[in-house]
Amino acid sequence: MTVLSGSKAQVFLYKKGVKMKKLFGLFVFGLILFFGCSTQQGSPSATLDMRYKDQIIAIAGRAYERELTSGTGGDISVRVPDSDHFIIKGTGNCFGDLSYDRLSTVGLDGKVLPGSPQPSHETDIHCAIYNLREEVGAVMHVHSPYATAWATCGRTIPPITQQSVEVLKDVQIIPYYPPGSMEMLDAVMDCYNNPVTKVVMMENHGVFLVGNDLPDLLYKAEVIENTARIAILCENIGAPVKFEYMPPIPYHK
Ligand SMILES: [Zn+2]
Repeated sequence: MTVLSGSKAQVFLYKKGVKMKKLFGLFVFGLILFFGCSTQQGSPSATLDMRYKDQIIAIAGRAYERELTSGTGGDISVRVPDSDHFIIKGTGNCFGDLSYDRLSTVGLDGKVLPGSPQPSHETDIHCAIYNLREEVGAVMHVHSPYATAWATCGRTIPPITQQSVEVLKDVQIIPYYPPGSMEMLDAVMDCYNNPVTKVVMMENHGVFLVGNDLPDLLYKAEVIENTARIAILCENIGAPVKFEYMPPIPYHK
């Protein structure tokens, strides 16, 4: 047995201590890695949710920049594919200031997932649309000024341009009801029972629209607002020229 002198013994114990600390560090790192991968945070479904939360924040921000809504008005949601839930803006939040903690996750059965903030007043409508129309991947309700002006005058936006005929399809209008009421839910869903309907205008309130996904939804909202604006300009100039829609001819050279 080798007997160490005082200084050698100290060096030995120090090296042993460093080794133990390294081993302990590796052990803790392994634990973090194991439990980190085991939690929902790192699961494929959580990753998918985060991807759609990022997309809803980006699209809502663009809608806000385009002045399609103002203040904390309107709501926006997206269906998470191959899941039983959708993500929707939390109530009282602005389209331009969304973040993860301002988005709610709601099941297709209407139940809010624990830990989610209070969702929009119109969550029942979003939920009913996802259950009724399987092709719908995203839903938005906005108070865009020109379209809301037509709705407030009790008139639907006239399809007066090539693009508006292609995009808006069938436009419906319903009377004013309190937001979040059963009457409003019934009236909007009566319109969406028609599988062609994409746009529902609400008197003295705004517009509901559905899309295949979030970018499609934003493009539709832009066309609705642009058409509403063009129609108001035309009314000031004179009666718009009547036309019969003809589909575009694909480039063929
Ligand atoms: Zn509203």
